[in-house]
Amino acid sequence: MMETKLFKQEHLSEEGVMLYAEAMKIDRVFQLPGSFYKHITACESCRERVTRLYKLVSKLPFAAPAPDSFFGALDIKLQRIKQITRPIKKYERALTMIMRSEEEGAVNIKLASPIDEQLYMYSITFDFDEALAFNTRLAIINEEDETVFGEDLAINIESYTIDKKQLEMLPDGLYYWKLMYDGGLKMGKFYWYKKNNVYPNKSKNVTSIL
Ligand SMILES: [Zn+2]
Repeated sequence: MMETKLFKQEHLSEEGVMLYAEAMKIDRVFQLPGSFYKHITACESCRERVTRLYKLVSKLPFAAPAPDSFFGALDIKLQRIKQITRPIKKYERALTMIMRSEEEGAVNIKLASPIDEQLYMYSITFDFDEALAFNTRLAIINEEDETVFGEDLAINIESYTIDKKQLEMLPDGLYYWKLMYDGGLKMGKFYWYKKNNVYPNKSKNVTSIL
């Protein structure tokens, strides 16, 4: 897997299809390079190949990703980043408080992504369960409690992606995000790793598509 290409000409290679099907099985498609997701959305034939393989792998018993696999390498990276980050106490407290207020049914934005405490490296997409009904401000905060990214989100959007270009000045580490809207605040956190190469051994073929 390490030395192989994930794309062949403009389509997913066999390895690419396998990786995508594995990602679906373990619910980690969001950690794949954006080029994957874009292609799967646009290309019916690759979508069919992935769906066919997914039907097979979904029946296999769950196995943790091998350390030298795509997701195994990401997991190792996440453990390393977690060891060197310093969580901000007030935000950690706020996260538990906000979770509690959600149970009380306050006005609330629900998100499918980002997933708390996961490692992101290509982009971060905020996926809302329902189109935003309020003017909402998104802020990303670093471990020093500094706002490193801010954006007013348009009303009615269902998703918002911050791409790598906008995030490339951010060092690896822990980040909190805040969505501030009329009468509400939603928070979460993620880990960011900006390096292109997720493989333990750098492979030209793989990094060229990321
Ligand atoms: Zn294709």
